[in-house]
Amino acid sequence: MRTRSIFHADLDAFFVSVERVLDPRLCGRPVVVGGPADGRGVVAAASYEARAFGVCSAMPMAQAMRRCPGLLRVSGSHSMYGRASRAVFDVLGQYTPILEKVSIDEAYLDLTGTGLLFGGAIDVADRMRREVRERLRLDLTIGVSQNRLVSKVASAFAKPYGLFDVALGQEATFLAPLDVRALPGIGPVTAHRLKDWNIEKLGALADTASWFLRETFGDHGPALQSRARGEDDTPVCPPWERNESKSIGHEETFATDVDDHAFLRAKLSALLSKAARRLRKKGLLARKVSVKLRYADFVTETRDCTLREPSDLDGDFLDPMQELLHHMASRRTLVRLLGVRLTGLVRGFRQTSLFDAEQDFKTESRSAIVSAMDDIRDKYGASVVQSGEAAWLSNSR
Ligand SMILES: [Mg+2]
Repeated sequence: MRTRSIFHADLDAFFVSVERVLDPRLCGRPVVVGGPADGRGVVAAASYEARAFGVCSAMPMAQAMRRCPGLLRVSGSHSMYGRASRAVFDVLGQYTPILEKVSIDEAYLDLTGTGLLFGGAIDVADRMRREVRERLRLDLTIGVSQNRLVSKVASAFAKPYGLFDVALGQEATFLAPLDVRALPGIGPVTAHRLKDWNIEKLGALADTASWFLRETFGDHGPALQSRARGEDDTPVCPPWERNESKSIGHEETFATDVDDHAFLRAKLSALLSKAARRLRKKGLLARKVSVKLRYADFVTETRDCTLREPSDLDGDFLDPMQELLHHMASRRTLVRLLGVRLTGLVRGFRQTSLFDAEQDFKTESRSAIVSAMDDIRDKYGASVVQSGEAAWLSNSR
């Protein structure tokens, strides 16, 4: 008997699959979603046919085009992705109320105790996949085990349109032959350090003496090892338990009303950097960012944007925020207040992608830079280290 039954459900090549529903001519051909090759466009998502040519997300579009002759590019119907995502999670939500969406195309579900109602875990997972395929024409892969961690690895392992069940007690055995990079939380930097000690497979990590890991990786070491053994008791947290009302934000009322866009952009970046730093101090990630603008006539406008993956890095919020601001500051009225708020807070690991080494590397090195900057700020004060626009702001005022 399984003590818990946790599913990790992940849509396959989600953006591309939605595009194929909208335009079936894209089916069976190498397709990417992303910006144009002549600009600075990058690949946001690639079909499996394109991935076979080495095309992956975050790759410059021009490079993707060179790698894969006949590659079809669509710029993306982003509002449709949100709608498709909600439709999928509505289907899955019929099987259990304990559903935690972790990104636009990914969720954990707790089906513990639903056996009598819906049948065995495998039957339920299979019904979910068939229902999503038949009703929405999207492919879903599901990993099943008694915890989130192992289910997540299992779904990555089973892709595309797969279903993989790791039996109770078999967690460590399942993980052992996999590369250490398969474990969420191990990025290229950690993997590289492990490789220096000839630890390349999760089995080797699980078997390494724990004092050695503590010596080498500090407190992180033993946690790494128990994860490599497939141990994880993080609960699946539906939104009503996550306290979505919690948020971290900063706002500022200006001494004199302003209409200078460059100033507003720089101010936004400075407010964000304060908020993101508090987020990191609390060990939280945010999935949503909102911008608030109050005009001189007290009309207030708020807009928000949801990230694909929760993050605690300034850089992940900055572009979407500047984009929001760009669309908002359209009235020919002076601005008196600007605010930034991070919501949808969750505790946990930043998601890493198995297929996206380049992106992981960027995230890990950015994360190292950001924590170094936090340390310096703690020692010498917040204004010592600033990102580009915030520095511009303090120099121009
Ligand atoms: Mg996916």
